[in-house]
Amino acid sequence: MIAETMKNSARILSGAAIAEVVKAEVAETVKLLEKNHGFRPGLTVVRVGENQASAVYVGSKVKTSAELGIVSEHRHLPAETSQAELLQIIEELNLRDDVDGILVQLPLPEQIDENVILERINPEKDVDGFHPVNVGRLSQGQKSLAPCTPAGVIEILKRSNIEIAGKHAVIVGRSNIVGKPMAMLLLQENATVTICHSRTTNLAEITNQAAILVAAIGRAGFVRGEHIKEGATVIDVGINNVSDVEFAKELFDETELEKRLNTIEKRGFTLVGDVNPKEAKAKAANFTPVPGGVGLLTVAMLMKNTVDAAKMRRKIS
Ligand code: NAP
Repeated sequence: MIAETMKNSARILSGAAIAEVVKAEVAETVKLLEKNHGFRPGLTVVRVGENQASAVYVGSKVKTSAELGIVSEHRHLPAETSQAELLQIIEELNLRDDVDGILVQLPLPEQIDENVILERINPEKDVDGFHPVNVGRLSQGQKSLAPCTPAGVIEILKRSNIEIAGKHAVIVGRSNIVGKPMAMLLLQENATVTICHSRTTNLAEITNQAAILVAAIGRAGFVRGEHIKEGATVIDVGINNVSDVEFAKELFDETELEKRLNTIEKRGFTLVGDVNPKEAKAKAANFTPVPGGVGLLTVAMLMKNTVDAAKMRRKIS
């Protein structure tokens, strides 16, 4: 019975272990930049208003920067900040030589047009990879700062020795921050890429062709066993809260159900991706957990983008 369970259980791709390796490499690069070039890369994170989730994300970015030796600065602006005021701050940061990376935490208050702000960031300092210049470079296959979450997925695949070239990769989701850049990055790695979205018909038929299936949908447990080809690699980008105990029972196998139910009891919810983990583990060969998978790579890749931005802007190879 144990052997049977083992046979049908996917290898779990730990984002934690890979994120630690990426961060150690970044810390090493920071040391070398200081020793050989006399500076440490600088990252400024701008947050507007009091969104609680944003406060947590920014806190983790600032803390990780400090751990790796990156000089970080947190600019927290009041919720009533105008677009003109925020643009003025972006301009100042664009001009400062000690600032290598600028990140404006989204979402922004409604009086501010997100696109106007993102387009004003100097593309050389755009460590989120959202500026149209970086999006364009990525789609042309040029060296660019790529969005952190899909870049993290590529790190997981490569560092887990999962072959990408020549494989059919199917992405469910076409957002600008995950789905589309994910497609471009997989294409750069020579995968054959298909993008699915809410208007895709015969979704399961398409996802069943995937050797690599990436779910970036925003719906807890949406990708089921019927969507997954036997032996596929399933990458779960989703982060959702589930508080319904009956739904949790459909999502988790006996190895983690009890822990998840305890979490719901204590915190009111448990974190779930866009894939049903119980069914994915039974069918896939490789699977990223939530939490503990892709999410952990996002901050690590932001750190990597910051040192890459510093080197590119200062023409250090
Ligand atoms: P988003 O902007 O809401 O995009 C969701 C995408 O899923 C859209 O393209 C949508 O299609 C598609 N979709 C929705 N329902 C679908 C359905 N029934 N069938 C097929 N496709 C469907 O979300 P996002 O920002 O890309 O985020 C996706 C997930 O990743 C979320 O759970 C988010 O929390 C998570 N996330 C995680 C990280 C991380 O660090 N790990 C970072 C960013 C996001 P249409 O375009 O047709 O509407």
